[in-house]
Amino acid sequence: MRRVAVLGATGSIGASALDVIARHPDRLQATILAAGRNVDALIALCRQHRPLHALIADPDGYDRLRSGLRDAGLPTQAHAGMEAMDALAGSDACDVVVAAIVGAAGLASTLAAARAGKRIALANKESLVMAGALVMEAARAGGACIVPVDSEHNAIFQCLPPLDGRGGRDHRGLRRLVLTASGGPFRGRSRESLASVTPAQAIAHPRWAMGPKISVDSATLMNKGLEVIEAHHLFGVDAARIDVLVHPQSLVHSLVEFVDGSTLAQLGLPDMRTALAVGLGWPERIESGVSGLDLVAQGGRLDFEPPDTDAFPCLRLAYQALDAGHGAPAALNAANEEAVAAFLGGRTGFLDIAALVESALSTHHSDGSDLDALQRADAAARAHVQQRIRQAA
Ligand code: MG
Repeated sequence: MRRVAVLGATGSIGASALDVIARHPDRLQATILAAGRNVDALIALCRQHRPLHALIADPDGYDRLRSGLRDAGLPTQAHAGMEAMDALAGSDACDVVVAAIVGAAGLASTLAAARAGKRIALANKESLVMAGALVMEAARAGGACIVPVDSEHNAIFQCLPPLDGRGGRDHRGLRRLVLTASGGPFRGRSRESLASVTPAQAIAHPRWAMGPKISVDSATLMNKGLEVIEAHHLFGVDAARIDVLVHPQSLVHSLVEFVDGSTLAQLGLPDMRTALAVGLGWPERIESGVSGLDLVAQGGRLDFEPPDTDAFPCLRLAYQALDAGHGAPAALNAANEEAVAAFLGGRTGFLDIAALVESALSTHHSDGSDLDALQRADAAARAHVQQRIRQAA
């Protein structure tokens, strides 16, 4: 029996993970459920999955969580706060951690799980963007096995042969990785036409049902930029050998090209439960609830085109940050999180997201790459973006 902690249980990845877990009561058990601040949704999940521990990141939710669990007659123990989450992620109560918290807030729990040698089904790409070298080193030192559940990286994980029993991939003979991108809701539009788009338009993703932050990232192509950085750390491949290809059907999840001219791809319906089933069951294949791919029923064609980095400069900015190294990716990520939150809150425009990130990157000065330096880069970029937004208001 694999005991699973689902961090970010009330989000879209959390729901997909719990759906897969519930299909395998003989081999998977959700023992820890953690959420940000939605106490009612967390209690509803606890009624359904009966975990040993439930955690709300917002300390103000603790009393309501504890009394709600008691009123429901559940034996689930209540916890609150980010430090308690890190402790649970590294505790004996789980073997597998589904890391599905959105943003840099997921870094500490991912590191805790890595140090404790857990299997990590990693959906929190921002932890790798911010501190990829530290997370991968912690996983090596702790004996953790990282199985990426971001669909593109999960595809690459499936296409590359295994190197060891801990999730490492053998990239001898590898020429390049090709990450596919749907292109988001604004694919094909000019830069000028994007000035007036609304948050509702930006989060209406054509192929994937996802949370608001990642949906906006998909619309700006920042999501793909973050994924280039993520792939660099996960697979140890330089930026020059990671390409991006727009594929609007979102059926080819990524491709791996070898020196002999062979290209392997992983295909499937755009449903996160497939990647989560790989993350939870690997090296075995387990049922995910996702049906097979009927290419004829899906329209009978697969289209590809290069990304438009004039209309969507965030992708270019992410490559720049990866080249600059040290704290630059952390600054990129933090500036983007702040800019996207401001856009979703109606405090800034869509095109401002890239402009704010570029501005934060241009003022970023590296002062090392340990965790403290990365956190300083993160904080400085957030402060810079917030100040720019206040000035503009
Ligand atoms: Mg992805």
